[in-house]
Amino acid sequence: MIKILEKLLNLIYIKVCYFCGSQKEDSLLCLKCRSKIHFLPQGVYKNIQGIDIYAASLYDGINKELIKAVKYKGQKQLASVMADLMFDYWKKLKVCDSEFIVLPVPIHKYRRKERGYNHMDIVAKEFCALSKYRYNTDFLIRIKDTKKQYNLNKHERLENIKDAFDLNVKNIPDKSDNLLIIDDITSTGITLSEIIKVLKNNGYINITALTLATPDIWNK
Ligand SMILES: [Zn+2]
Repeated sequence: MIKILEKLLNLIYIKVCYFCGSQKEDSLLCLKCRSKIHFLPQGVYKNIQGIDIYAASLYDGINKELIKAVKYKGQKQLASVMADLMFDYWKKLKVCDSEFIVLPVPIHKYRRKERGYNHMDIVAKEFCALSKYRYNTDFLIRIKDTKKQYNLNKHERLENIKDAFDLNVKNIPDKSDNLLIIDDITSTGITLSEIIKVLKNNGYINITALTLATPDIWNK
């Protein structure tokens, strides 16, 4: 009931902090709640197949609640908060000066039908509104209806995500374009690894990835 009221207030009145209910700042994430997010040091988090992967923050507390709300609770308006946090980290990196085409990690069409949207599509659009990069939600597609990864062990995750992605014939970027894959979380990096494999197999070499969160700062 409180959440419904907050949602209504967000629509007709002022923005309410989703996490503590504060109305003081006309923001979906107030400064106090934002200060609880643990941003990671600036720099490459992990390198997969020669590709730099950046992770903005730790997957804990507010971040956990944020990602779950956008992904599973229909709180699409919070995608802008995810994009904002990612861009806040990204804009301080040297790499941000290049021009990128942003590719959100896709979900399978069955999952999209069930959920009604791919939250990372919305995050990509919001991220591009901030960065002035172009987004491309057509090119990268998920051809395998994978199971949720968090219940699986490493071997099962690998099998689950193997050959899950392909490239569409729509909206094809140039081979010389810089591609920026964005996702909500990375842990073992196998989802990103599969996408990088597909892009590389199709002649793309200028690839970078950015995720909002990672559960393990030491996961090099
Ligand atoms: Zn708050």
